[in-house]
Amino acid sequence: MSSAIERTFHGQELTIEKATPLCAHACSRHLGDRQACVDARRFRLYSECARDRFWRGDFPGSRQMLRRAMTIAPVDRKARAYYVASFISPHWVRPLRRLRAALRARKSPPRHVPGGKRGTITMHGG
Ligand SMILES: [Zn+2]
Repeated sequence: MSSAIERTFHGQELTIEKATPLCAHACSRHLGDRQACVDARRFRLYSECARDRFWRGDFPGSRQMLRRAMTIAPVDRKARAYYVASFISPHWVRPLRRLRAALRARKSPPRHVPGGKRGTITMHGG
């Protein structure tokens, strides 16, 4: 069964492509650098898809996305860690998934920070 990320992947890729002309002007993080903006957005999309596939046990699919992500950011530690981990036995994913869920449950939900940064637009959602 495909996840929400898988179902929207091609739409998100198309959105990135269509928004490319706006990147150099509309993104506060990469003002004036369209290619850096596009690369950052694609890297995020490929990485999220790779992690999603990894945790669903689709290691070959995860590696495929990680290779795409690492063509953009070859030294990204998280991407490299997932790539190496994708060669472990699928047998180990279930306990790792339980550990990950437990660690996530301990984190508190994000809260609004009064006086936080306002009026800043980023095209990366983060
Ligand atoms: Zn940007």
